[in-house]
Amino acid sequence: MVACANLVRIYRTGTTARGGVEVQALQGLDLTVEEGELLALVGASGSGKSTLLGILAGLDTPSAGTAVVDGTDLGALKRRERTAYRRRTVGVIQQQTARNLLPYLTARENVQLPMAYAREPRRRRAARATELLDLMGIAHAADRTPAGLSGGEQQRVAIAVALANRPRLLLADEPTGELDTATSEEIFGALRTANTELGTTVLIVTHDALVADQVRRTVRIRDGRTSTEVLRHAAGDDAEGAPTAQEYTVLDRVGRLQLPREFTESLGLVNRVRLVLESDHIEVWPDHRRSPVVPEAK
Ligand code: ADP
Repeated sequence: MVACANLVRIYRTGTTARGGVEVQALQGLDLTVEEGELLALVGASGSGKSTLLGILAGLDTPSAGTAVVDGTDLGALKRRERTAYRRRTVGVIQQQTARNLLPYLTARENVQLPMAYAREPRRRRAARATELLDLMGIAHAADRTPAGLSGGEQQRVAIAVALANRPRLLLADEPTGELDTATSEEIFGALRTANTELGTTVLIVTHDALVADQVRRTVRIRDGRTSTEVLRHAAGDDAEGAPTAQEYTVLDRVGRLQLPREFTESLGLVNRVRLVLESDHIEVWPDHRRSPVVPEAK
């Protein structure tokens, strides 16, 4: 569904006669998302998450590299194609709950609006809005305007709005940023529902690493590149039946990989590590230069 390869985005700021400052927000990012996945993208503030989302949403274009969503190459879109892409292929939910909805329209009208833009027949708009508000557990509030809804309810309506035109990919930028823990879990539940019931591929961007507990795959983005991934397995649970999590890292085209800091710190790995190729894996050892390795054979 999503294939980003060596994606680069450079912002030029403060352009003056003497030139400006360049910020490389994405520096060769690789990311693959399978159809039907629910994935969390985590990373510190400034790591490039919003930049990536802007590109995937069709709002921004990469400086270099490729981003392909559902077969559409986002670097090569003409204006009309871009509009169609934004209307039909992706749905976006923003962090600021209020920004997702028009304040003077009811929840139902908000959900119908994107369908009107896409020239969906009126009768089908009404049916689809009812269906989506119901799916999001918010049917009771269909005729209220955003002011009469709680923050969590507003975000659930926002998800229904984003789903209105049956997007293949749902992008949520910090969807729980303004919500308390209990409400946040409700929102993750609603996003999961969109994923399982409608088969929509969902990408949730967050700086909150706890989100990892809510999804099967978490990708950590660091310095504009994807680094580690955590996969949770429902099958292969441990003895207590708790899902086991396995950490993965991305190996780029030239064979570079980044080790998680928790791993390198706990073993005191610095500067140089010793590599041993085994038949089915590679060992990474601390470099004991001061206590030399015993030779294997004389
Ligand atoms: P995140 O969403 O992970 O916080 P961003 O994608 O917002 O990260 O930002 C990545 C980097 O790009 C940061 O250093 C940020 O300051 C910079 N950046 C983001 N947007 C712009 C912009 N419009 N102009 C200049 N620099 C930007």
